[in-house]
Amino acid sequence: MNDPRKILTMSVSEMPGYGFDCPCGKHHSIDLNRIVSGKGVLAQLPAELETFKEKKILIVADTNTVKIGGDKVKALLDGEGFDTELIVLDTPDYPILLPDEKTVGTLLIHTSDDVGLLVGVGSGTINDLCKFVSYKMKLPFVIVGTAPSMDGYASFMAPLIVDRQKITYPAQYPYAIVTDTDLINTAPLIMKKAGYGDVIGKFTALADWRLAHKVKGDHYCDITAELVQNAVDECVANQDAYFRGEPEAVQKMNDTLILTGVSIGLIGYTRPASGSEHHLAHFWELDGIARGVEHPLHGNSVGLGSIASAEVYKIMRKRFEVVDSVNPPDPDMLRDIYARAGMALTPMDLGISPDLFNRSLNNGYRIRPRYTIFNFTKEQGMLPEIADMVTEIMCGGSK
Ligand SMILES: [Zn+2]
Ligand SMILES: [Zn+2]
Repeated sequence: MNDPRKILTMSVSEMPGYGFDCPCGKHHSIDLNRIVSGKGVLAQLPAELETFKEKKILIVADTNTVKIGGDKVKALLDGEGFDTELIVLDTPDYPILLPDEKTVGTLLIHTSDDVGLLVGVGSGTINDLCKFVSYKMKLPFVIVGTAPSMDGYASFMAPLIVDRQKITYPAQYPYAIVTDTDLINTAPLIMKKAGYGDVIGKFTALADWRLAHKVKGDHYCDITAELVQNAVDECVANQDAYFRGEPEAVQKMNDTLILTGVSIGLIGYTRPASGSEHHLAHFWELDGIARGVEHPLHGNSVGLGSIASAEVYKIMRKRFEVVDSVNPPDPDMLRDIYARAGMALTPMDLGISPDLFNRSLNNGYRIRPRYTIFNFTKEQGMLPEIADMVTEIMCGGSK
């Protein structure tokens, strides 16, 4: 039997196909074919896709990612004799591409019978759309990342916007994840910050997981939690180098984003990557979509959400031993990290009004049926009171 701790020493590129029996009672496996990550790896794409050469390849990009990588991918594949078609998706009358009914429909229409593979070029919505549509069409898909902005590459679920609601649908793992750090390093700073926020948000996600384990008896895996925490700690240690664009630090961040997605696949649920900080982020995203205004990038919301959750933990751990026992992160420690990265520290920094912030603290837990510090606080009958306290702490006099 494999040593269950061996995975803690593996790089993410070594993980596809790996599996082991874990002391947590589960068999963990990484059902991905290939993770190709590193400097200049885009050049390997034609070789990686050799088995799909007989069929047509549909390359999917949006109006931004087509310029960053979509055209390049098409030229690269066409140059090697592949049969390709490039589709550029767009949401008219909205600042960014939305994964809604219309976009899904457009992509479905373009996925003709002779298409054998989808290649998504992007890092957020494009990935969600391709993994959903390819799953529905029973086709494989490959994602070529363009920014270190989120951790959804390796997840097998796709959040879509249906009837203006964000709903997570079953989808599939990509056949391969290809992230060229040269490409990713050209991403705008705001996207680099977003990826960083998505990573640092794991501090509260992991605390919520431990709390759900202790209070509700939810399944917990020490090794998966340690795998994620180690990678997060390394990103914190390399923070300055990452924002300076040093290739090794960018790769580390990128690999951590892939890894946290992999950790969801390992365990079969999203706990290692997503907790109350994500519920808050989703609440703000939905509010923006409902009002037809642009919401902050996912990872930047997650970063702020993790400060808010940590503030709730800080109050509750003084009153309840069980909360203290899950060792939640200190909000000021998170603030220090985000301040060094020049990231949002208050709701207003992200355009979230104190009123919306307060509502999200009171109602964010309703977004997912998943136990977090907010559910715990609600069960104690203290949620409105704590929400007001945290709003006051984070919004100051502007409430
Ligand atoms: Zn996230
Ligand atoms: Zn385990």
